[in-house]
Amino acid sequence: MRPPSGRPAANRAHTATPTLTGRASPAGSIASTRARTPKRNPPPEMASDATQETNINVVVRCRGRNDREVRENSGVVVSTDGIKGKNVDLSMGPSALSNKTYNFDKVFSPAADQHMIFDEVVAPILDEVLSGFNCTIFAYGQTGTGKTYTMSGDISDMFPIPDAAGIIPRVLHSLFNKLGDDESEKIENSVKCSFIELYNEELRDLLSADDSVKLKIFDEANKNGRSTTLVQGMEEFHIKDASKGIRLLREGSHKRQVAATKCNDLSSRSHTVFTVTVYMKRTSETGEDYVSAGKLNLVDLAGSENIQRSGAENKRAAEAGVINKSLLTLGRVINALVDKASHIPYRESKLTRLLQDSLGGRTKTCIIATLSPAKSNLEETISTLDYAFRAKNIRNKPQVNQ
Ligand code: ADP
Ligand code: MG
Repeated sequence: MRPPSGRPAANRAHTATPTLTGRASPAGSIASTRARTPKRNPPPEMASDATQETNINVVVRCRGRNDREVRENSGVVVSTDGIKGKNVDLSMGPSALSNKTYNFDKVFSPAADQHMIFDEVVAPILDEVLSGFNCTIFAYGQTGTGKTYTMSGDISDMFPIPDAAGIIPRVLHSLFNKLGDDESEKIENSVKCSFIELYNEELRDLLSADDSVKLKIFDEANKNGRSTTLVQGMEEFHIKDASKGIRLLREGSHKRQVAATKCNDLSSRSHTVFTVTVYMKRTSETGEDYVSAGKLNLVDLAGSENIQRSGAENKRAAEAGVINKSLLTLGRVINALVDKASHIPYRESKLTRLLQDSLGGRTKTCIIATLSPAKSNLEETISTLDYAFRAKNIRNKPQVNQ
């Protein structure tokens, strides 16, 4: 579906290195373009345009040193340019000349709080969801760097929202505030949530009464001839308010916690996907009703130490089955999208199959790479920054001041 000629193209926002604040497709323009289209349920993912570039925002969040890093006297090797700049500097050796500088869409220093991450990174994406886009936010990084803190954080309460509440509770809070405000625009809405875990290429429903069942993914061709991915037997709950959503998040997180204490590496080697789908009944200018649906996937990825490694080490790890296939394939899929490759290897892992309708085409993706500032983690920090940087634009190279 192309916008009528003469109107600003909604997909003009798809630049290789988009900025988070400078969205060229304000939600209003997309919504009003749709309102003129006398169609039922215009699915945004069908509007894929071969000329558009993939819209992937990559931001970095560095936490402060934790007690252990301070106790061990591990120096700070990561520095950022202000509380929310664009550069990360890595101190790779004794001389400032060997520093390496990476540039991202945004870089948050340890002083950035949960509220700032939501306002700067998540709120603009939530607006896109409300105008019918499928969007995904990933937390990517070494275990212990703040992925779960960033995605969930404090989920003990909802009103008032705790300072340490992460992205998911803030999304639920903000979503229902926005939907409440929109009544004057003749919008009837419904919101659904699901919460699943992926471990060793097996899917488990964190909201199901029987969470031992392994969910199956299968493809279904839709009316337009394009296949969509469905998860058989996955529970999806209608939620009427933010409190119900946070209860589901709490329930699923608790199940994950219980399982993680039984299985040592589960929490570092599994991915969780909390999905919020918003259906909005809209009335077009010609008086016809249609439903616009947008989806937001909030993904807490497995620890990045479970990925890559080259040469002999890689082979041994593969034989031992410790390479995380979904994490590895996600990197390949994102790089293929950024590079506009003709083949995108969605089918090579469960995670990318699951997120297929929200990665590439007319969708928005954000990666939040989380870092430890300590010297003892330098090697993993470099690996995280390299992965994140490649996702941003694989044609550029980080700058080495040598
Ligand atoms: P991960 O999910 O990446 O393994 P966690 O989110 O569990 O890491 O974070 C590890 C610890 O560090 C937790 O106790 C968490 O509360 C704390 N932490 C992480 N990031 C921050 C941050 N930005 N500010 C305060 N505490 C943080
Ligand atoms: Mg975690």
